[in-house]
Amino acid sequence: MKAERGGFQMLRREQLLQELVHDTYKSGHKLPEPTRCPKCGALFHKGRWTWDAAPPGAHEQSCPACHRIHDDFPAGYVALGGAFLAGHRDEILRLVKNCEEKEKAEHPLERIMAIRNAGDGIEVTTTGIHLAREIAERLHHAYQGELAFHYNEEDHLVRASWSR
Ligand SMILES: [Zn+2]
Repeated sequence: MKAERGGFQMLRREQLLQELVHDTYKSGHKLPEPTRCPKCGALFHKGRWTWDAAPPGAHEQSCPACHRIHDDFPAGYVALGGAFLAGHRDEILRLVKNCEEKEKAEHPLERIMAIRNAGDGIEVTTTGIHLAREIAERLHHAYQGELAFHYNEEDHLVRASWSR
């Protein structure tokens, strides 16, 4: 396997999923139950974060996603580029946002942090590794093009790229 600049390496899908458990912002098991995030209202209950309503008297603490947003520390980066992107920008961004809506509904910690212009392309940052991967894969599924994943082991983050 060829190491790339910045210690990033190509990574297979299975390895990516395995590394999810090492995410330092997913320290939910140390929280008392139930814990409610005062920022977004997510509830930690039975070992996972949900959108269930909090019972009265729930412990309060920021969820890992709000923690990342506060620290401005994304878990995932998706770089979008290419001439096709430039010509179908609105349509592609709609797909990106739909993808977040779907993921977030079931997994409160998977959210888009920012969508910004980056050179000729667009950079999407996410609070979860899974969402970054999902966005890139859904774009690839819908429009083909070039898809790549790079994983940084030290920082527990993923960089996905899609271009067409
Ligand atoms: Zn939160």
